[in-house]
Amino acid sequence: ANVNSNRKDGKSLLPGVKNIIVVASGKGGVGKSTVAANLALALSEGGAKVGLMDADIYGPSVPIMFGVRGHRPMMTNVDGKGMIVPLEKHGIKLMSIGLLIDEKQAVVWRGPMASSALKQFITDVHWGELDYLVIDMPPGTGDIHLTLVQTVPVTGAVIVTTPQDVALADAKKGIAMFDGPQINVPIIGLVENMSYFTPAELPNNKYYIFGKDGGKRLAEDLEIPFLGQIPIVQSIREGGDEGVPAMLGGEDATKLAFMGFASTAA
Ligand code: ADP
Repeated sequence: ANVNSNRKDGKSLLPGVKNIIVVASGKGGVGKSTVAANLALALSEGGAKVGLMDADIYGPSVPIMFGVRGHRPMMTNVDGKGMIVPLEKHGIKLMSIGLLIDEKQAVVWRGPMASSALKQFITDVHWGELDYLVIDMPPGTGDIHLTLVQTVPVTGAVIVTTPQDVALADAKKGIAMFDGPQINVPIIGLVENMSYFTPAELPNNKYYIFGKDGGKRLAEDLEIPFLGQIPIVQSIREGGDEGVPAMLGGEDATKLAFMGFASTAA
């Protein structure tokens, strides 16, 4: 496919959006959504207008992470066309399949349906003027990734992994996909999440539960930027579950880490 000509079309689809950053992982459960949400908040803290699109159609987590479960977006009329207005929470414009369908309704769509739902997040959502649209991708490599890069001009990809071998192997595949000729999206860098754990009563100890420096080494091997490590911190998990991501309610060290990623990504 001629990605470039598609990208030109894409440009006209989101004319008010200056940068599109995808956050991806090879494997599920490594903290991709957590990084996407906190990256969006860190960019917003820096003064940018930011949107967060939850493209994880099969496992949407934005409604829980932003505390907007059960909320329904409004519709508006733009040049005679009905458009969905993104929900706004913590200063971020949000869209997720979880805001449009009943939570108990498991998403069992086939690939093409999921891809077309995602296209509607681009064509039928009134994103307006944004400095950054952060996209929380589904884990892995597949149809949805291809659809997305062929629909909109993606600025770059942030890859999230844990230091564990299985996660690294999958991260490598993800990087190869974005880097490869079919997609050809620049890699902004790799984030190593859940790097170690430090118990409160042993503040000088680091326990490398998922192995040590795996993500860092992978970034070095592949010659892509390494954005840094995030430890396992209880408040990150709690913030995600309670609708107040770590950037807003967490510890200073965590906030600094996310601010650091945001300044590199920007
Ligand atoms: P993914 O999007 O890769 O599936 P999530 O971001 O949903 O992963 O994270 C999976 C779970 O792990 C969530 O409950 C989240 O709050 C938690 N989590 C993610 N990163 C951390 C971390 N650094 N410390 C503690 N918990 C984390």
